[in-house]
Amino acid sequence: MLLIGNGCVITREPQNPMIESGCVAINSGRIVEIDDTTMLRGKYHGATFVDAAGGLIMPGLINTHMHFYSSFARGMDLKAQSPQEFGQILERLWWRLDKVLKSEDVYYSAAVAMLDCIRNGVTTVFDHHASPGCVEGSLFQVADAAKQLGLRTCLCYEVSDRDGEVVAAQGIAENAAYIRDCQQANDPMRRALFGLHASFTLNDDLLRRSAEQAAELGAGCHIHTSEALSDADDCRRRYGKRVVERLRDFGVLGPSSIAAHCVHVDPYEMEILQQQQSLVVHNPESNMGNAVGCAPVLAMLRQGVRVGLGTDGYTADMLESLKVANLLHKHAQRDASVAWAEPHEMLFGQNAAFASACYGETLGRLVPGAPADVIVLDYEPPTPLTADNLGAHILFGCMGRAVRTTVVNGRVLMQDRQILVADSAKITAAARQQATKLWQRF
Ligand SMILES: [Zn+2]
Repeated sequence: MLLIGNGCVITREPQNPMIESGCVAINSGRIVEIDDTTMLRGKYHGATFVDAAGGLIMPGLINTHMHFYSSFARGMDLKAQSPQEFGQILERLWWRLDKVLKSEDVYYSAAVAMLDCIRNGVTTVFDHHASPGCVEGSLFQVADAAKQLGLRTCLCYEVSDRDGEVVAAQGIAENAAYIRDCQQANDPMRRALFGLHASFTLNDDLLRRSAEQAAELGAGCHIHTSEALSDADDCRRRYGKRVVERLRDFGVLGPSSIAAHCVHVDPYEMEILQQQQSLVVHNPESNMGNAVGCAPVLAMLRQGVRVGLGTDGYTADMLESLKVANLLHKHAQRDASVAWAEPHEMLFGQNAAFASACYGETLGRLVPGAPADVIVLDYEPPTPLTADNLGAHILFGCMGRAVRTTVVNGRVLMQDRQILVADSAKITAAARQQATKLWQRF
């Protein structure tokens, strides 16, 4: 039995959005009860007590679009002119980096990214992996790191035609092998989607074979969708279609699938996304950094499109992503009144709903019976904190680095900022060594 108490519990549930001096009682990896700290300590005396020290107790955060493999890019010399547009960013950075990844790099780049997730209170991650030089077994390497560090992950391998037929076929096989493994193991910590890079790197034959394999396995897909204008232009030129239209025609969308970005979608594509009920994942910082434009996610939400929030590897910090989503749309629309509620809805509502459907468990919510993914943040509200204004306190007062304790499936991964599940300094030092070698091959 584990109690996380002496903090302000923020559930955002209609009947009890906030419990001052609250406590979450956990048994066998599940939330048993949420109530007053003194009351629950009396009821469950003898239970291990994790002291929130007056901070906030919240559901673990969920990232619906991430690239663990991008870790070793930090501080790396591109040995090339600084890219100006998206195609150059792929060619000068990501498609060179992923090609030189070796099996150990896959493990260590994932492990350091996962440590960062834990430190930022992220408990479930939907990752999109690429390592064309070592495709086979790569998802299992990432899964090994997740198992060691205790993170809940939904993995996929990005199939694309950019490295030729052999690598493309390996990508399909790796997705299939990992999806089957997840289905057989039925491990509550692991799920899989079928990964696809993007319309412009998937010819008709490859897209058809991939979609057929995904359908045969009953798996949703995870694909970059109209991230840059060049993807939309390529699709119109080669296939005479809009990107979302093409993906729908191949059966790639649907309620179990993730369409990341959707920056350059028109009203017709929004209608398709609404009908398909795929999760569009907004990655505001990545879109700004890659200078690809501002996704019309507020319009999509108004039309009943599902929209979640991700980071695309730019950061592990979902609260930073929440803040930037709030800023980006105000800035883009030159209207300070917009985007107050939507980023919260994406992070706490839609990400949780999609993850819950994917895992067949209630994730991202503090309710009895749900798996115990719980975080504690240091926060002393300088103004009154109430059920009505807690969104503003989270937006303006909290960042990932305020997270002091992270619990996933009832296992305490980090307590008072100490990683308990592994020697984090040792992993990080090993990662630096791997990165040094990788930079020499880049
Ligand atoms: Zn991405």
